[in-house]
Amino acid sequence: MDHFVVSARKYRPVTFDSVVGQSHITTTLKNAIRTNHLAQAFLFCGPRGVGKTTCARILAKTINCQNLGDDVEACGECESCVSFQNNASFNIHELDAASNNSVEDIRNLIDQVRYPPQTGKYKIYIIDEVHMLSQAAFNAFLKTLEEPPSYAIFILATTEKHKILPTILSRCQIFDFNRIQSKDIAHHLADIAQKEGINAEHEALELIGQKADGGLRDALSMFDLNVTFSTNNHLTYAAVLENLHILDYDYYFKITDALTAGSIARSLVLFDEILRKGFDGHLFVIGLLEHFRNLLVCKDPATVTLLQVSESAERKYLEQSLMADLSFLLSALSITGQCDINYKSAKNQRLHVELCLMKLANLPQVLQLHSLAAVDETAKKKVEPQQSLNSSAAPSPAAPQPAASANTQSNGSAYANVPAQPAAASQQVTPQQAAPSRLKSTVSLTQSLTPPAQQPAKQSNVEASVEYAAAPNGAKREELTLANLQRFWYEFSQKRLQAGNSTTEQITLNREIQLNGTVIEIALDNDHQQDAVMNMRYELLGFLKLRLDAPKLDINPRVAPQEVNRLPYTPAEKFNFLAEKNPYLLELKQALGLDVDF
Ligand SMILES: [Zn+2]
Repeated sequence: MDHFVVSARKYRPVTFDSVVGQSHITTTLKNAIRTNHLAQAFLFCGPRGVGKTTCARILAKTINCQNLGDDVEACGECESCVSFQNNASFNIHELDAASNNSVEDIRNLIDQVRYPPQTGKYKIYIIDEVHMLSQAAFNAFLKTLEEPPSYAIFILATTEKHKILPTILSRCQIFDFNRIQSKDIAHHLADIAQKEGINAEHEALELIGQKADGGLRDALSMFDLNVTFSTNNHLTYAAVLENLHILDYDYYFKITDALTAGSIARSLVLFDEILRKGFDGHLFVIGLLEHFRNLLVCKDPATVTLLQVSESAERKYLEQSLMADLSFLLSALSITGQCDINYKSAKNQRLHVELCLMKLANLPQVLQLHSLAAVDETAKKKVEPQQSLNSSAAPSPAAPQPAASANTQSNGSAYANVPAQPAAASQQVTPQQAAPSRLKSTVSLTQSLTPPAQQPAKQSNVEASVEYAAAPNGAKREELTLANLQRFWYEFSQKRLQAGNSTTEQITLNREIQLNGTVIEIALDNDHQQDAVMNMRYELLGFLKLRLDAPKLDINPRVAPQEVNRLPYTPAEKFNFLAEKNPYLLELKQALGLDVDF
């Protein structure tokens, strides 16, 4: 029986061109070799299993090759190449810093650096997981790294770049390795499957690619595992799903179908089935979020590329995204996001998810009611001819969002203008008008559905961004007049007061202001107050510029000590004060020989 070699080793790339998904690095390295501009120290950073050590070995082999081809790839036949291939070359030294991180280990390595190579041109030192070296080891190594002999090349590899000392970083040429795209991984696995005579379904390989999350080595071990489990060297999607314990994305499609149809019962039964298969409820919620996100991404041709799924799955997503309304998806993301955030703290986690599903299943009905109300309102006002119920985004004049259209044009309207709402398009509802009211309805809806206690604390990003797009602040800027300025100035001071600002700041904000062109003049008593103004200057001007049509608005605080009418305080002052009012008092004092009592 043949000795089994794992695929990750058996199919380890031996030339630059066969490295998967890191062409930006291999091209640079080849160019450096061609032009003889090779650095003496490299730092290879990136997640595990993406080809750092492999690239280091290929580099070592290539620069020592005795008859390097024009394509800057090692020949694989010369003495040096053969010894590299047999792991017998004396010109390459590998140190795994994860297990050998003491000063002694580094000293041993430095000792070897002193001897030039017996054969070949370069000696290559690869230090893996270099961030694990102890502080003392780092220091011992630094000297050698600073002045290496001309034949020595150091390749440091790490998964955690931020842990590397700046002194090391500054002496290395840094290469950042990418996570490998799941499509590239699947393609590579297909190659190997063909060479091994394994009949693999393409979907199965893509599933492995996704599960590996960018790491080729992980993908290859999963591949090996699945091949071991398989019968007759046949790799099916279903078997891989089972072996890797992945929840079939088909479930998410089924559940979304149930939800958009408003069927609480069907969605709960499906969820029960998932739990009975041994899947975690939280993982299901996260998967559902991802599913909604994918559907949302499908709503616009420009964002479909963000979909990281297999081709057959992509078709399914595109189909389902046509059935799901944009308002539904945004609200669903918000509700499911809340469920995800609160999952850990829920006492009855199953019920928590079920409640979320019930809310989701109820959504279509609520949305329809909402659009009915909007249509009704429009009909009453008779501004526009009656819209059909399907064009739920009737442009209600009650939604005053003219200026927000600048924002929504880039995010909102792009989605509104998809084939999912052919009715809206054919009736010449301009997307700019339609989108904001649609977004607005979504927001108020999610607010009514979410328990009020949770709302202010944690809002999902989607919800927050929707609110921003529909914020009335962006509506229309007012003319710069003193009255308007004072109004918004007061608004700002109230805002700061609520935020609990300092007394000095509040006194400053209560001062009288003047308007001189586009400059706000404010007279202050002392430097502290001036500092206070300067500290909140940007926030203040930003706040005002959002509301006033004055892009050049500025503020000029100046300290002008007032002529203070001091009240008499000491006995002498009191006497003088009184004497000023009544000069006879002085005479009285002199006549009686009196003095002021201090
Ligand atoms: Zn060679």
